[in-house]
Amino acid sequence: MTAFWAEPDFDAHELVQLVHDRASGLTAIIAVHSSHLGPGAGGTRFWHYADPAGAMRDALRLSRGMSYKNAMAGLPMGGGKAVILADANRTKTPEMLAAFGDAVDALGGRYVTAEDVGISEADMVAVAKRTAHVSGLPVEGEGSAGGDPGPFTAYGIYLGIKAAVAHKLGKDSLAGVHVAVQGTGSVGGGVARLLARDGARLTLADIDAVRAARLADELGGVAVGADAIMATPCDVFSPNALGAILDDRGIAALDCAIVAGGANNQLARPEHGGKLAARGILYAPDYVINAGGIISVATEYLARREGRLGDVAEVNALVEKIPGRLEAIWHDSDSTGVSADVVADRMAQKLIGRG
Ligand code: NAD
Repeated sequence: MTAFWAEPDFDAHELVQLVHDRASGLTAIIAVHSSHLGPGAGGTRFWHYADPAGAMRDALRLSRGMSYKNAMAGLPMGGGKAVILADANRTKTPEMLAAFGDAVDALGGRYVTAEDVGISEADMVAVAKRTAHVSGLPVEGEGSAGGDPGPFTAYGIYLGIKAAVAHKLGKDSLAGVHVAVQGTGSVGGGVARLLARDGARLTLADIDAVRAARLADELGGVAVGADAIMATPCDVFSPNALGAILDDRGIAALDCAIVAGGANNQLARPEHGGKLAARGILYAPDYVINAGGIISVATEYLARREGRLGDVAEVNALVEKIPGRLEAIWHDSDSTGVSADVVADRMAQKLIGRG
């Protein structure tokens, strides 16, 4: 058996902590990839892994991803992530969340947590009873930062799509631009609503077909089956559901000029960025375009550390820098011939002192 620190996913993590609490049954991994720019920030995932090695892999990849995302978002935060290994019934108890809060607290602020898949705002409120190193808590006052990061993620993606359309199609308006949206949940639904306001033509899909159909009715778009969305002829394909959809098959199916959406880890393998570029498709690196949520979460946390409530205007101002970062990546990519995903990774590595 190879030790996990010899695996490429380890990527010189600064800290990997295994936590087991007998009394509550909590088993968790807390990973901090880099604290070069600040405390390692990233959400906690609550998930049942058939194979615990999968939990370690997830923690390490997600934590490195957060280093890159936070650096490219211009945040004074490093990258980290926690994974709570759920049992097959996904039993989650207040005692487990308390033990998890104690484990985060024991790191003295090296890791700052928030929600991720399987963890709700209410869970974070429970964790916050044991540690101050928590974000993604309910909004405390009118116009203050906090709460659901989804709308901020959606806003950044909408701005990124506008920038991509200007860069690739030379259009300064979204009127009549056809966007195929995969996933109409918190992020995809928000993106679709913003695009509709600008007169974009929408094709929507979700495995929850009723959800997609309702949104299509509301916005005057068209709903198609979840298996048809990637092959929809369109200007922009916007993935806002699952990761790893850009594999050989997915890329071959695409009939678009641009891929720009919020799903994490869209490229199935690193070489798929080059494959998209070889097809002449402009790609918005996922962790750059979908940083709106972490910008909200980090702004809330940093303000609270200063004893004040962060404000939504502060969050929006940072989210509005996302298109400029994408443009810098695309310009570099155009002039060097290096694919956009690789350009983004190199920029991020430089920012965290590993370039
Ligand atoms: P969500 O659960 O609200 O919505 C996801 C939607 O995708 C659901 O409606 C689900 O039915 C649908 N879906 C699942 N599989 C699908 C498939 N195969 N085809 C079509 N639709 C499918 O989640 P969300 O918060 O909107 O997050 C969406 C994606 O964006 C995830 O990959 C998430 O990791 C990423 N992301 C979210 C945020 C955030 O702030 N919420 C931030 C960064 C990245």
